[in-house]
Amino acid sequence: MLTRGLVFDIKEFAIHDGPGIRTTVFLKGCPLRCSWCHNPEGISPHPQTMRSPIGERTVGTWYTPEALAGILNGQADILRDAGGGVTFSGGEPLLQAAFVAETIDRLEDVHVVLDTSGCASEGAFRRVATRCDLVYYDLKIVAPDLHAQHTGRGNAPILRNLHVLGTLGVPYVIRIPLIPGVTDTDRNLADIAALVRRAPGLVRVDLLPYNQAAGGKYDAAGMAFAPTFDADRPVNINLSAFEREGLAVRVV
Ligand code: SF4
Repeated sequence: MLTRGLVFDIKEFAIHDGPGIRTTVFLKGCPLRCSWCHNPEGISPHPQTMRSPIGERTVGTWYTPEALAGILNGQADILRDAGGGVTFSGGEPLLQAAFVAETIDRLEDVHVVLDTSGCASEGAFRRVATRCDLVYYDLKIVAPDLHAQHTGRGNAPILRNLHVLGTLGVPYVIRIPLIPGVTDTDRNLADIAALVRRAPGLVRVDLLPYNQAAGGKYDAAGMAFAPTFDADRPVNINLSAFEREGLAVRVV
């Protein structure tokens, strides 16, 4: 059967999705429902209509691996010269693991980053992560009940795939969205630091303060922005738990 993938954006000249200047491919569909998600159009695994005062547009374009790799290979020389590469993000790119893997297999020599929540089967995770040069691994909440409360699902597959990642020999960065009163608590940050200390392959920890514009696209997507936290509360930016464990940490 023909493999194809649904993409909701291809962003060129991206500078926050991995080393250097990159092209980031945003895959549509995510099994989580983080109440702070700032890409609501990335959650549904189907094409959808975005409406605004200036009109409507359909979000979600189908590509074959050949077609997408063709676009990316056309930029490969420039991306390599810029010390960058290609990043697969979402949504959750592992929901379309076969498509992403087949696309990577068709890429010329270019640095590849997987940006994932880790919420996927172990097979899907291994299939894509082992084809990448670097993994950006989002970790949100260690306590399973709180994780389910704020993201709609427990974190068992995420913690399992984090363990798998440490065995693959692929370097990775832990990325923590700092959501006020949810992920940014001293307790949760200490729990994450304890989880990843001495983890083989860990390059550093990135802390990403909550984006106040997160709710901006919900109306256009026909969805309700319903944060499970106080969006006006200041973010707790506390690096000490990571520094105590001797981990490289930065705020991005
Ligand atoms: S994992 Fe990312 S894309 Fe998925 S709902 Fe959470 S913030 Fe949105």
